[in-house]
Amino acid sequence: MAYHYDHILIRYGELSLKGKNRKNFIQKLKDNLKKALAGFKDLEFVTEYDRMYIYLHGHELEPVCAIVGKVFGISSFSPAIKVEPTMEDILGGVEHLLDLGTPKTFKVQARRHDKMFPVNSDTINRTVASMILKGSDWKVDVHTPDVLIMIEVRQDAAYIMTDKIPGAGGFPVGIGGRAMVLLSGGIDSPVASYLMMKRGVHIEAVHFAAPPYTSADAREKVLSLARLIAPYQGDLVVHVVPFTTLQLAIYQYAPESYAITLMRRMMMRIATGLAKERHCLAVGTGESVGQVASQTLESMYVINNVTTMPILRPVVCMDKVEIINIARHIGTYETSILPFEDCCTIFTPKAPVTKPKLDKCEEYEARWDWQTMVDDCIKMVETIRVQPGQSLQKDEEDLF
Ligand code: ATP
Ligand code: MG
Repeated sequence: MAYHYDHILIRYGELSLKGKNRKNFIQKLKDNLKKALAGFKDLEFVTEYDRMYIYLHGHELEPVCAIVGKVFGISSFSPAIKVEPTMEDILGGVEHLLDLGTPKTFKVQARRHDKMFPVNSDTINRTVASMILKGSDWKVDVHTPDVLIMIEVRQDAAYIMTDKIPGAGGFPVGIGGRAMVLLSGGIDSPVASYLMMKRGVHIEAVHFAAPPYTSADAREKVLSLARLIAPYQGDLVVHVVPFTTLQLAIYQYAPESYAITLMRRMMMRIATGLAKERHCLAVGTGESVGQVASQTLESMYVINNVTTMPILRPVVCMDKVEIINIARHIGTYETSILPFEDCCTIFTPKAPVTKPKLDKCEEYEARWDWQTMVDDCIKMVETIRVQPGQSLQKDEEDLF
């Protein structure tokens, strides 16, 4: 390119939004972008009804685009140059932007937002095209051009762009409230977390660790996963629950076949307690119907029974292949398949009950004072704020 892009033009997602909702959407998106791009000093953000502009002020385009592409609430974005809203400056801008020495096919697509601009879109298209045709070997192709030249004329400026990059879609994180997500070291819960954030829900994570039965590596793996999904909302708070005592009690007082079910009920109680403390209105999981014994509808019924909070299960009806595809897309898959033991895998009974009964669960739980243990778990939780790009306590190289 003969000219440096100095702006990024951002198109909003979910355009059906109106009135106050739309205002909140745009404000939240701007806040989230600012937070995500805090490492780049002096970026300037300008919002309008249907567009946002980031003025790069000399920053490299690519690293900024890489981050913009992960922020929810954006349908697409384009690197742009900003020129004065006159035909002369538009023509000058296009000439500077294109490398006219290398022949290509092109199409011009102008939009005149400012109806006071004296030249209509059609005429802008034709004027720009004839300037290119006269000055080069470039050819027009209206169906599949190599280069689509987009021009937006507004009252105070005109923007010239050649690429339209798909955004992450969804809603800006935070406009959908907060949820506490049960984050394991597996494939599903990071994907579920991502999908919740995509709908605008700000998440915190809770992880159940059972040292010394689970290793420090397993814990680091979960924190690595948290770090991989953190950029979608800026940062991520992870609550690590010391679960060993409660888990051993389950094995002491209940038959092995009910261990997983009771463990899940305890997890749900602790997650609900933490959710209330942290002002969350829902709990999230990576459960998927039928995937394993503890994910039958009968299991979900008895697990759900311990809480009145809504439980969000974004992957509940997805096939494993679909979930894996998303895991690959968001870059968590490779970390999720690392072979460190989770507390569930270690205590997995040989024959877990697939159709647990509520009265049985209640009968076994009546055998000991689990409530105190649940309260202790909540009290003894270790809270870690994971920042994207921040290295964890342990060298991450060790994990790969
Ligand atoms: P995942 O891939 O998310 O681990 P999974 O297919 O292994 O899921 P399960 O192990 O049955 O399924 O777990 C179901 C859900 O329970 C998980 O998606 C997660 O939300 C929660 N969960 C399981 N183990 C833990 C844990 N140690 N800490 C926090 N949440 C957990
Ligand atoms: Mg798991």
